[in-house]
Amino acid sequence: GSSSYGNAKKSLGSTRRGLNSKFIPPIPNREEEQDSVTMNAVTKSVFGGGKPSGSNNSEEPTDERLKGIEPKMIELVMNEIMDYGPQMTWDDVAGLEFAKKTIKEIVVWPMLRPDIFTGLRGPPKGLLLFGPPGTGKTLIGKCIASQSKSTFFSISASSLTSKWVGEGEKMVRALFAVARVHQPAVVFIDEIDSLLSQRSDGEHEASRKIKTEFLVQLDGAATLSEDRILVIGATNRPQEIDEAARRRFVKRLYIPLPESAARKQIVLNLLSQQKYHLSDQELDFICQKTDGYSGADMANLCREAALGPIRSMDFGEIESISADQVRPITFRILKMLYHKKASVSNKDLDLYISGTIHMVVLV
Ligand code: ADP
Repeated sequence: GSSSYGNAKKSLGSTRRGLNSKFIPPIPNREEEQDSVTMNAVTKSVFGGGKPSGSNNSEEPTDERLKGIEPKMIELVMNEIMDYGPQMTWDDVAGLEFAKKTIKEIVVWPMLRPDIFTGLRGPPKGLLLFGPPGTGKTLIGKCIASQSKSTFFSISASSLTSKWVGEGEKMVRALFAVARVHQPAVVFIDEIDSLLSQRSDGEHEASRKIKTEFLVQLDGAATLSEDRILVIGATNRPQEIDEAARRRFVKRLYIPLPESAARKQIVLNLLSQQKYHLSDQELDFICQKTDGYSGADMANLCREAALGPIRSMDFGEIESISADQVRPITFRILKMLYHKKASVSNKDLDLYISGTIHMVVLV
């Protein structure tokens, strides 16, 4: 009746954004407000609470595990290393069936059910993923964290020496302390070779200290069995990791270049977000022609191809065209692009393969 119409009108009137309007409400952005509240709560929980409003209990102790860690370092870890990215599933990682199956069994299930996976079944504390760049090692790290309901921490080892000059050692300590507070946790360290290579022994004091601290933390994570922290190291240069460090990564997995079927899955996943016009045969043709491409190469190819329909327009057209009028990505566009050289050369690949023998894949 008319009264319900009236209500509907009323609620429409109070809607902040209509379907097509770009109206920015004069009300403060609630989401942003809430985010900062949540972040404060998170930071507070790490710093050990602080004084909750309306409570006179001001003597809340700092978490034991954070004693002796500078608050500034804790904040850096929370802001720059802790990953608040979206949840991932195994379907987001194309191919790599062997690695995925192994990881589910030896890592994810034990992290989900520590009560069942004890003693002999206990999870490894270190996992090394090695192989050419752009093959999904980081994706796997994120996926392990998502699937085991763990907090994900991700850092590139080279940033420890370059980005936080002189603070790398403190950073490593803070990272593991915060991970302990937020366990179960996955600590992903990219380019781990730069942290654990034989070379870094001879290098200056700072690198040596970072390496020593890292090994101490790694051993700590391994011996304190009640802590649920998995350290994942990723590297393109496995042969550079010294023996002592290698022994600490009990499980090692080779992450190879994608097969044709995996390349197809990567392309399909990426194209599904766009309009495209491509038969199955045409897609297979592209996937055969891209032998030697890494997953990252395939992603770049798709990115370039997605720009194809845009590049054929002039500026005036780009300004005025409606989104659904943009032409689809076609076979013709893709065919112009796959001639680019793969980012991993055959020579590099030989190195991984001989590296694999050298490494002894342990699962
Ligand atoms: P790595 O850590 O091995 O160097 P990444 O995991 O960072 O490589 O992958 C880089 C990008 O390449 C990803 O964001 C993704 O777009 C694509 N990619 C690489 N390997 C895969 C894969 N197996 N499945 C899906 N996408 C992949």
